[in-house]
Amino acid sequence: MSQSLRIAFFSEHASPVALLGSEDAGGQNVYVDEVSRNLARLGHRVDVFTRRDSAAAPPVVDWAPGVRVVNLTAGPTEFLLKDKLWPLMPEFRDAFLRFMLRDGARYDLVHGNFWMSGWVAADLRRRLGLPAVQIFHAMGMTKRRHQGAADTSPDGRIEVEKGVIQGVDKLIAQCPTEASELIDDYGAEREKVVVILSAVNIERYRPLPRDEARRRIGLDTDDPVVVYVGRMLPRKDVRNLVRAVGLLAQYTDLPLKLLLVGGDTVEPDPVKTPEIGVLQTLAAELGITDRVVFTGKRQPDELHAYYSAGDVAVTTPWYEPFGLTPLEAMACGRPVIGSAVGGITFTIHDGVTGYLVPPQNPRALAERLHQVLTQPEQREAMGRAARSRVEREFTWATVAERTAALYQSLARPRTRRTARVAAWAAQRPAGLAG
Ligand code: UDP
Repeated sequence: MSQSLRIAFFSEHASPVALLGSEDAGGQNVYVDEVSRNLARLGHRVDVFTRRDSAAAPPVVDWAPGVRVVNLTAGPTEFLLKDKLWPLMPEFRDAFLRFMLRDGARYDLVHGNFWMSGWVAADLRRRLGLPAVQIFHAMGMTKRRHQGAADTSPDGRIEVEKGVIQGVDKLIAQCPTEASELIDDYGAEREKVVVILSAVNIERYRPLPRDEARRRIGLDTDDPVVVYVGRMLPRKDVRNLVRAVGLLAQYTDLPLKLLLVGGDTVEPDPVKTPEIGVLQTLAAELGITDRVVFTGKRQPDELHAYYSAGDVAVTTPWYEPFGLTPLEAMACGRPVIGSAVGGITFTIHDGVTGYLVPPQNPRALAERLHQVLTQPEQREAMGRAARSRVEREFTWATVAERTAALYQSLARPRTRRTARVAAWAAQRPAGLAG
């Protein structure tokens, strides 16, 4: 019989609270926010543990009904790049143990997000006998394969990932590509891996009429608009999109505009976001500066207007563990052209809700863009198909139901577990007192 569970969610660098404006918020923050809220709607209680990255952050935030965000002190109470956090993980774990003792919380299960929190989850499973579930969001081997020397992950990441894969009960893969990485690259046991496709908030991301959307965001044009939303990183390869627009400007008379949404700050700043500087230079070299609009980072609750202001959305990363932005654009009723990598190959239905193109190929992208922008009826049909697809197959409510079913299959009788935690607490290692 299903019971109401108490879950400890670990996400050392990606807090749901950061969605309200911090610099480094991406898909993992969204996942943690949506999955915890939707688990709570099903009657479970979730505490999200994240690293305190500002002295002003309160220790505990009542984030949503049934969800608390707990800011654990580990290292300096200031923003640190995630690649600097690995040495702080034992301290992060100990801060969790202290919190658990003080708060009297008794968890039924731990769920790690990303490799470092995965280490914490596996360690707690070993110490406390708590069942542990892990989702990586991105794998070190894939990153190394694509980024080579530019990969700034700490040494040892891949070995730690292997240990986590051995040390937890179940692994959630966000798409079949990630499942293959776990099994083929890391030797995970097939039965340990459960694919639960990630999703989009279909109430937040909803279609707006194009003209109204453009009015709302102050984009004064009747020209076709191509929109990109996402972090401004080399691997997202927005340069590929700028080059494709350059080709269309050179070889066609399509009067299109390119709307680029994202960056580390709300003002598009080439110093604070060096990739914006690279893109500006590239646009100037291609003679299309007047066609490209940078908006800087935008908040999730305004993004539906940005997606809806576009006629088509594009994302052509070199690789993508899952990729939430294609789903967001689809939920806004816009066709998406995306590179045929990672999760994108499962979210875009090629030829129905948009197109898959090879990565790093501006010509292939330009051809598809031309096709979509010159065939309005097909474009609108694709946008409608995109919205139906996400309503049918990509909701967070479904992700939470599947995740809860996975938890239930692992949850152990509470009496035995409580005894073990109590026994551990009674020992109270000196370093954990206080
Ligand atoms: N995002 C945002 N504001 C921006 C740009 C991006 O809120 O200005 C959000 C975007 O809506 C999406 C997330 O950041 O929910 C990016 O997630 P995705 O999985 O696409 O890529 P990641 O950043 O995790 O690599």
